[in-house]
Amino acid sequence: MQVAMGMSEQSDPKEDQSVVCHEIGHMVDEMCSFSFSKEGAAVLAQYSAEEIAQGLSRYATASPQECVAEAIAEVFSNPSPRKISAEIYEKIRETNITSE
Ligand SMILES: [Zn+2]
Repeated sequence: MQVAMGMSEQSDPKEDQSVVCHEIGHMVDEMCSFSFSKEGAAVLAQYSAEEIAQGLSRYATASPQECVAEAIAEVFSNPSPRKISAEIYEKIRETNITSE
């Protein structure tokens, strides 16, 4: 896990934002227990490591938790998220409809 604080040098606001979004991604994942669930594992199993590396990020291939955090981070920080992150985020919403 990356440390979000203490990154004042080489501070690129966009970069900081995506680190924060990544950490929020972990929190959302933990709240929903998505990457630990059978449903979550099935969603992630649709993609090969190469697809995730190309369509999301290389870091996302590290573990299911990093994959979900990266997907959520992309959806939160990118107005037009790519296919994999949009699909993963959609599944998280579908499997965790507790409010609305
Ligand atoms: Zn992480």
